[in-house]
Amino acid sequence: MKSVARTRSSLLLALAALGGGMAAVAAEPMVLINHNANNRNFRFSSVPSPVENDTGAKARFSIIRGTRDNNGGEIGALNDGKLPGTMDSPTQNLFFIGETWILADLGQPTELKRIGTYSCHTDERAPQVYTVWGAERAPQSGWQSVSERTPGLRRLASVDTRQQRGGPDHSRGAGGQYGVAIVPGAQDSSLGIFRYLLFKIEPTGKSPFAHTFYSEIDIVSASDANLRTPEPKVFNFDSDDGFFHFTLDCSNAPELAEWGKEKIIPLVKTWYPRLTRELASDGFRPMRRFSICIRDGLGGTPAYAAGNEIHVNRGWLRGEKDREGLGCIVHEMAHVVQSYNRRQPPEWISEGLADYIRWFLYEPQSKGAEVRQRNAVHDASYRVTANFLDFVIRKHDPEFLKHLNAAAREGRYREDIWKERTGKTRLELAEE
Ligand SMILES: [Zn+2]
Repeated sequence: MKSVARTRSSLLLALAALGGGMAAVAAEPMVLINHNANNRNFRFSSVPSPVENDTGAKARFSIIRGTRDNNGGEIGALNDGKLPGTMDSPTQNLFFIGETWILADLGQPTELKRIGTYSCHTDERAPQVYTVWGAERAPQSGWQSVSERTPGLRRLASVDTRQQRGGPDHSRGAGGQYGVAIVPGAQDSSLGIFRYLLFKIEPTGKSPFAHTFYSEIDIVSASDANLRTPEPKVFNFDSDDGFFHFTLDCSNAPELAEWGKEKIIPLVKTWYPRLTRELASDGFRPMRRFSICIRDGLGGTPAYAAGNEIHVNRGWLRGEKDREGLGCIVHEMAHVVQSYNRRQPPEWISEGLADYIRWFLYEPQSKGAEVRQRNAVHDASYRVTANFLDFVIRKHDPEFLKHLNAAAREGRYREDIWKERTGKTRLELAEE
């Protein structure tokens, strides 16, 4: 913060009016910056978490110069008290194209205690670079032509979080969650009295992807009380031995957050480590981090796994909570552990194997894989194949699951594996 002049002179006037002479050096607002390298639900060491019922929640935000990126949320995302669920949730954030000026109108002059700005992304779209001014009234020339030199603006702070060292985690890059709090300087009890806050928001770099994902802007007045932090809908947790790290994201399905906390978290803590053992193979290192996101937009698909993410269909899960929901998550976790990234085995193998895990290891009591069709074909995938695998494992080779999985993972699945392990070809086994 370099432009002290205007700030200081107006404070001196204020002090003079109060009859104060001693404290000639008035403190500028202080800027606190915190950084979490990962999703910590915007809990910071010294910056307060975002709140949902601050004065800013009722403010009118508008863009007076520049453009919002249509891939992001609407301007109202800035003060809706809702936080993005994941580290890359475009529509739950607001971001701009080039330098953009936005105005917050509080409706009346208000004594302010704190301005909080929050952002979240995986990389250079996370840090914040902006300047904020306060004004008691609109400039005579209107807001459209406003500039840094417009009379009546008081600069409160220039913020640049790019230099922030968030501890050792920072070596992973600029991504993460940033919280900024602009608070009164040591000598002051408030930031001043303003009706308007004006933000000049700048990109964080030169690339087109250097536009900060702003998640929330809080404006806390001197009379705000009982401030509430939104309930977290994103849960980070570890396996009991601390080796695996998981995220359950219910921010798009808040009605399932309590249930998910109660049912999905213990399921993942128990079953993910177990699956890594059931599906171990030489030299294989399971992914240590994965996330489950419950959301809309999956169409008729109940769930799918991609890399180390599982996406579950919100509407489907609501109906299947007490039926197929958890078993389906076990099936998808099996896919995460399979990591069949080389030459893929036939799909009926990977799906059948995932369903074997689900129906025969996780929930044998449900008998969900009992096949009703008498003429079911063993390579019909899913539960039919699961039955076939169960038969081969019980009758011929208790180690077959491990061997089949290892071959599939290493891209060397071939027909011969059946004969090598059991003495019979696949078709002979199917015949049995
Ligand atoms: Zn599947």
